[in-house]
Amino acid sequence: MEVAGQPLISKLLPLPVPLAEQVLIKIIACGVCRTDLHIMDSELSDPKLPLIPGHEIIGTVVQTGSRVTHFKTGDLVGVPWVGYTCGYCKYCLRDQENLCENALFTGYTIDGGYAEYTVAFQKYCFHLSAQYGIPSAAPLLCAGLIGYRSYKMIALHAKQLGFYGFGAAAHILIQIALHQGKQIYAFTRDGDTAGQAFATRMGAAWAGDSSATPPSKLDAAIIFAPVGKLVPKALKDIDKGGSVICGGIHMSDIPSFSYDILWEERVVRSVANLTRNDGKEFFELASEIQLKTETRLFPLREANEALAAVRGGKIEGAAVLVM
Ligand SMILES: [Zn+2]
Ligand SMILES: [Zn+2]
Repeated sequence: MEVAGQPLISKLLPLPVPLAEQVLIKIIACGVCRTDLHIMDSELSDPKLPLIPGHEIIGTVVQTGSRVTHFKTGDLVGVPWVGYTCGYCKYCLRDQENLCENALFTGYTIDGGYAEYTVAFQKYCFHLSAQYGIPSAAPLLCAGLIGYRSYKMIALHAKQLGFYGFGAAAHILIQIALHQGKQIYAFTRDGDTAGQAFATRMGAAWAGDSSATPPSKLDAAIIFAPVGKLVPKALKDIDKGGSVICGGIHMSDIPSFSYDILWEERVVRSVANLTRNDGKEFFELASEIQLKTETRLFPLREANEALAAVRGGKIEGAAVLVM
């Protein structure tokens, strides 16, 4: 991306050289996330320019910087949205590195994975087991990870969960939720019967329009769609003491609402980024449950087509670019 708002252009660039704490990665695949659209549409400010987007990277280490100790050539590696944290700001010092003041973000403030090669700081790369050395594993690196952090914000006793927007994150999380004995109520764009059928096929107890009232009160809700009006809607759908978690990085404005739908200790909160500990927990769980993804694969040269398909809600599961 050279300028926000313009389609991506394909360019031949020199091979990046890893810094002392970085690894050089030959990319196998990179997922396409809605956040990439928010960056390209200037809904997130001040990206690095020119920028290589993409923050759901799977690849192989082909070279290591002089101070790299966690990885060696040939290791299978995953690179997520958070690409670097400082380790000394007040947030890092109190175990909130996801809020780090000096954080760098893959495919936003540093180059990402819509490329054949990239460099990444070892600190934020994840070791992946051999089963995830395939393109369909790429969405685990953001849809899976940020989805999991959102899911962790829900009270353990919550049984009936609403997912608002049933895309890349929801179709991964539903597998964890079902494994833990929860029931999922899936809300899609009004009239999106294909999306509702997909949610039902993935095991949702109920699927319907986001304007519809679910058949019973929900214990909690996660909003994945970047649609602010879903916040008061979800508040109306949840029971006393329940939470509405906003899992996205950007949302349209939230309309004003009367206090009575928040009353009785309902909570609205957002989730930002991830910590390395979230990643460790998530990948352990992924192996235990044998998480699978539904993906549509695009060659790298069709990145603009993949982004358009995500924008139009035309993907069941997630879109992935294959190098
Ligand atoms: Zn920090
Ligand atoms: Zn993402």
